[in-house]
Amino acid sequence: MTKPSKCLGRAITTVALIVMAGSSNAQSGGFEGVELSITPVAGNVYMIQRPGGGGNIGAQIGADGVLLVDSLYAPLTDRVVAVIREVTDEAIRYVVNTHIHVDHVGGNANLAEMGVVIFSQQNTRQRFFDERRRVPRDGGRFDDPHPAAGRPNITFNDELNFHMNGEDVLVFHAPPAHTDGDAFVYFPESDVLHLGDVYRTTSYPIIDIYNGGTLRGTIAALDMAIDLAGPGTRVIPGHGLEVVGRDEIIAFRDMILDIQGKVLAMIREGKKLDEVMAAKPTAGYDAEWTDDPGWGAEDFVPIVYYQLGGSGRLADR
Ligand SMILES: [Zn+2]
Repeated sequence: MTKPSKCLGRAITTVALIVMAGSSNAQSGGFEGVELSITPVAGNVYMIQRPGGGGNIGAQIGADGVLLVDSLYAPLTDRVVAVIREVTDEAIRYVVNTHIHVDHVGGNANLAEMGVVIFSQQNTRQRFFDERRRVPRDGGRFDDPHPAAGRPNITFNDELNFHMNGEDVLVFHAPPAHTDGDAFVYFPESDVLHLGDVYRTTSYPIIDIYNGGTLRGTIAALDMAIDLAGPGTRVIPGHGLEVVGRDEIIAFRDMILDIQGKVLAMIREGKKLDEVMAAKPTAGYDAEWTDDPGWGAEDFVPIVYYQLGGSGRLADR
């Protein structure tokens, strides 16, 4: 049963809970005092966010229960459940992971312990078995492996459908963009599309080459998202506070195509990476797309350069 509409009517409800010592959220470092918000997006779908908007959760909520897109970090699970309880008392039944990164799968083990069934694309589950987990930040640092208890229970290859809360929820394996296990989740009746980290409002695309991401796949995946979306579709980004529409996805893709074209032209002129960097192929975009201090042109352009077949770091002098 859904709670009275006074809860639903609130634009944003927030809750702050003290992380319980000794609970399954033992690794609480850095999350003390973090407040989550839950916001209606459209139809049955809500968005759960942390300050700054990272690892945004999509939540389809109705009489058939709750389906989550992603699970944020493990220490935040209690707070994820608490904000859902501001809107509904129905059971949290399913999680679909959009990809392998810890800010999207970290809560899996806690939710699985509560009986929630975890789904992902097969490649994403496979990466739970990596003993040396590498992440794209800081030049590709290594991190602890994901816990076995957080592994998805059910996987799919190309597509997966859920039929709940009055809509046929469509899950697609996207081309290898952010990672090789990227999933898009579309709620057709609510007309909401969650793109995971293939789309973010805060920075240039993070192409995680350590987990199968590619430039070519990024453009193909954004094309797929543009095809899926209609004029009224609300798009939840993996990172960033704003819900956007199809036009923003088109602009993001066109920005990548423009930068790709500039870098490719310089590669054809035989330019080395340092020369390409010095020519600033992202100059027209840096003001808008470098809100993320950990991912700027200096991270993005080398990936574009090498993915397009550029070779050599420094020009001969
Ligand atoms: Zn990610």
